[in-house]
Amino acid sequence: MAIVSQPQTAARPEPRVRQDEPRDLKGMLLSGLEQFVLDLGEPRFRAAQIASWVFEKGAASFEEMTNLPKLLRARLHDIARITTLRVVQQSHSRHSPTSKYLLGLDDGQTVETVLIGGVQRNTLCISTQVGCALACRFCASGLAGLSRNMTAGEIVDQVIQVQRRVGDDRTINNVVLMGMGEPLANYDAVLRAVRIINAPWGLGIGARKITISTSGLVPNILRLATEGLQVELSVSLHAADDDTRSFLMPINRRYPLRSLLDACTRYVETTNRLITFEYILLKDVNDGLDDAGRLIALLRDLLCKVNLIPYNPVDGLPFETPDEGRQAAFLRVLQAGRITTTIRRERGRDIDAACGQLRLKESGQRSVVGGR
Ligand code: SF4
Repeated sequence: MAIVSQPQTAARPEPRVRQDEPRDLKGMLLSGLEQFVLDLGEPRFRAAQIASWVFEKGAASFEEMTNLPKLLRARLHDIARITTLRVVQQSHSRHSPTSKYLLGLDDGQTVETVLIGGVQRNTLCISTQVGCALACRFCASGLAGLSRNMTAGEIVDQVIQVQRRVGDDRTINNVVLMGMGEPLANYDAVLRAVRIINAPWGLGIGARKITISTSGLVPNILRLATEGLQVELSVSLHAADDDTRSFLMPINRRYPLRSLLDACTRYVETTNRLITFEYILLKDVNDGLDDAGRLIALLRDLLCKVNLIPYNPVDGLPFETPDEGRQAAFLRVLQAGRITTTIRRERGRDIDAACGQLRLKESGQRSVVGGR
């Protein structure tokens, strides 16, 4: 895995926990681990030893940490824990190197994680919340609403558990925070998890190989711009006018397109980094050539690219996929308008590889369609 470290100075302090609450070592930055061991009267280097066991070796118990003194292991047993998710269900696509995992959390909740293989990269799409409050009309995750935020340790452990499953032959070298939930609505835990996934003492995945997605939480896009991270930002746009976008994504009523695009402009100016806009193509909803024209007008002055995603249809929702000719025409108009545009190849339809679908099926609800 590539190693790109992020400055620890930008990190926020460890969250306050009750004295009697075991600390989750998988959700702690190295600086927090150091303070933790110092408070126990141990030398600072123990923190790096613990980080190596937790993140590099994927240890699930303190007994495995054989280079720690027995007494320290016993103390850790009493005051700390290591979040470890269970694989409840997994499915593998017959048509593409795509696998989907339903992972169990300690409180009995489940989340989804999808591994997508490519020529040179293996991308893991991870969740950041159990459910989602934003209720996008085309998304299964939003159907049942938000149960709770995931902790930093739970977010990180999705990568560790799937990597353990697939072994060294398939190194996860890309992580996208595009599964269940709105990442920027769980800001502190997500940023902590991203720093751990990126850090050389953590999972060592390069910042530019980590993508944070958002449906457009304007204040937190502006906050993210100041973090000094080199991660990719992906904004789910899905419409080029406010009426259509508010219909598809209720969050647009709170942060309409103008305020979202202004925040994106500020983000690019501050970070000098390109933004990817995701656009699900829905037949007769947002796939007209006039929509493409409006999209060009919105984005032409911004350092960005557009990723078109042909809709993945499922019984029960009124949306359909535009035919390939219509998709190609939309793509051509954007390209002629000098907007860098790609179109996503469909992957894993046979395993419901879209956010929220597997979890809904598993919980006995009707499967609809996944978002982003
Ligand atoms: S598309 Fe994303 S933001 Fe919208 S409901 Fe689904 S998970 Fe939430």
